[in-house]
Amino acid sequence: MFDKILIANRGEIALRVVRAAKEMGVQTVAVHSTADSDAMHVRMADEAICIGPPSSTLSYLNFPAIISACEITGAQAIHPGYGFLSENANFVQVVEDHGLTFIGPTAEHIRVMGDKITAKETMRKLGVPCVPGSEGGVDTLEDAKRIGAEIGYPVIIKATAGGGGRGMKVAQSDKDMEKAFHSARAEGKAAFGNDEVYIEKYLTTPRHIEIQIFGDGKGNAVHLGERDCSLQRRHQKVFEEAPGPSITPALRARIGKTCADAVAAINYIGAGTVEFLFENDEFYFIEMNTRLQVEHPVTENIFNVDLVREQIRVAAGLPMSFTQDDLVIDGHSIEVRINAEKLPSFSPCPGTITQYHAPGGLGVRMDSALYDGYRIPPHYDSLIGKLIVKGRDRPEALARLARSLDELIVDGVDTTIPLFHALLAEPAVQTGDYNIHWLEHWLAENLDA
Ligand code: ADP
Repeated sequence: MFDKILIANRGEIALRVVRAAKEMGVQTVAVHSTADSDAMHVRMADEAICIGPPSSTLSYLNFPAIISACEITGAQAIHPGYGFLSENANFVQVVEDHGLTFIGPTAEHIRVMGDKITAKETMRKLGVPCVPGSEGGVDTLEDAKRIGAEIGYPVIIKATAGGGGRGMKVAQSDKDMEKAFHSARAEGKAAFGNDEVYIEKYLTTPRHIEIQIFGDGKGNAVHLGERDCSLQRRHQKVFEEAPGPSITPALRARIGKTCADAVAAINYIGAGTVEFLFENDEFYFIEMNTRLQVEHPVTENIFNVDLVREQIRVAAGLPMSFTQDDLVIDGHSIEVRINAEKLPSFSPCPGTITQYHAPGGLGVRMDSALYDGYRIPPHYDSLIGKLIVKGRDRPEALARLARSLDELIVDGVDTTIPLFHALLAEPAVQTGDYNIHWLEHWLAENLDA
């Protein structure tokens, strides 16, 4: 096992990794920008190193500064959290070139899955069902229109390098294609430096179902069931749960095994998520994330595992601490993402927290780096906390979520907390009867008015 690891991230996820490492007796090094000198992850880690100014390009994405921080402190491995460098294959290469360990998959896994076209091709060959669409990239408008007619409208044009809900445009008919095609390309180029796009059938009533997998890098892999992340705004998740209300044990066993077998075949190491759209009892692969997800706690809750601990273990060359047979679902878990954002526009709302009170009690977990007097810097993501609850079943988890939202106090900035109070009053949320488009319609009717 490592003596010391460095966490190349900030906020709640950096704290999450510090917590796992401490329980394992592993020393931790936090890195931070000058805007984060007072951050909770800096206070909680054993050591902290400033790696640059507020701009993340010069700090949390700064390879030389992060590698130097390892050399100065003697950290042997780097946990990237999610976002920032977590899916950067070049960074993984640099880490390995310096004789350090990246706590995550190999550069090759990240490269293959980071390009959505290659990811789809790879998964299709491994027997994973995919959304019908173009074979590979689409270079010209003429081809795009031909493929649109072949697949049948509506279609979605997606940047192969896309992520975070960006680089995707829907064309309802042939006449929308020109605008959608060019804007998906332009967005891909601007946000990811790659204008290659591909086309998929646009599913009109799917749920977002993702399978958590875990591999040991030696050809063994397991699945940890699904998460339903269908409540989305602008293709970004706001409310996640496990197990999925629409997934039967038989469906779970089938798709779970397909995913575990696929990632075992490529000797995948560490945590990963295989994302699907699910419609009429069929799964359609959309992408794989080669990292820990924001919503991983709901899976931890129902399987009683610590995924970060497991990541650190396999990175250190130890075997996984569970087998597929050990993984039995216990209860139901829901997570809501608390963002510092002003409703109804969801515009970022950085500022000083004048009062913070976290909810507690049975089955409540609050993953957050907030504290009284904390100044949320304007430079980063607006996620400031995740409230995660567990109940024996879905109704109990929903009741516990409502109760703990009542206890949660975040004063000084606007947050998305009122959104969840309102959502919990909705019959569709109580029954779990919605698809990926439901929240957008609900927001248009209830918030934007
Ligand atoms: P990103 O990498 O930006 O997260 P994804 O490919 O994972 O992009 O898609 C994000 C979300 O976009 C999905 O959860 C879904 O809501 C929507 N989406 C993606 N592909 C399709 C599709 N073929 N049909 C309908 N919605 C889609």
